[in-house]
Amino acid sequence: MRTRGTIPCDGSDGSDNPIRGKGRSPRSLISQSHLGAPDVISTNGSKGYAHGENRILTALPASDRLRLLEVVRTVDLPVKTVLFEPGGPIDAVHFPTDGVISLVTPLHDGAIVEVATIGNEGIVGVPLVPLGGLAVRAISQVAGHSLRMNAIVFLEWLDRSPSFQTLVDSYTQALFGQISQAAACNRLHSSEERLSRWLLMSHDRVGSDQFFITQEFLGQMLGARRSTVSVSAGILRRAGLIRYVRGHVTIVDRAGLEAVSCECYAVIKAELDRVVH
Ligand SMILES: [Zn+2]
Repeated sequence: MRTRGTIPCDGSDGSDNPIRGKGRSPRSLISQSHLGAPDVISTNGSKGYAHGENRILTALPASDRLRLLEVVRTVDLPVKTVLFEPGGPIDAVHFPTDGVISLVTPLHDGAIVEVATIGNEGIVGVPLVPLGGLAVRAISQVAGHSLRMNAIVFLEWLDRSPSFQTLVDSYTQALFGQISQAAACNRLHSSEERLSRWLLMSHDRVGSDQFFITQEFLGQMLGARRSTVSVSAGILRRAGLIRYVRGHVTIVDRAGLEAVSCECYAVIKAELDRVVH
């Protein structure tokens, strides 16, 4: 059973988190006209989501959403921004509006394995319990922005809004599904398949055919050696599916990438799509 925070919600952020936004109003990122906006076929041809918005928040009833936007603030998430460490305190929940954040498991030898990615379809920091932590590190892997909500305020909102609680619970369940699928994928599927899955999921979220990811970071995300990533990226590049030059990935043939990817991409996407439908 979920326990609740006891400090009244006063609408303040109340955190000393060093991440600073550009002072942009959250309203500029989630316009009223996009209330309940459906998935879009974006200009990059991906089957992604409306960019510059967070799907969980756009799925809220208008009255709840407008009140909620008063208690969040926009923050920049440059590459490698760590939002929390395994077992560490979570002082805020993030609703990404663009970019990609990974949940990763760091090992004692320095290796890092990605267990989930979160974009504007989701929430970073759930499941959240007062004074509790999660067994993963949350780190930004493709630069973007999020709407930051103080953890205590978030817990108060779960009590305040049944619609919000339903969406958060549904997303948390889908996130567990994604982590379960990733466990099987990391164990049984080839590096090319996993790389294709990762590229497709990132393509859905960044709203562009091009994004930046270093080979070293990609290897960490995939739990593969840098040389393995190089070979796999070379296979996809020679097949005409991507370009990859000094960390700059270009998706050239999305349909071809879907054909190469393992089943996990479609399974995870379907699970996440169910949250707001
Ligand atoms: Zn897989």
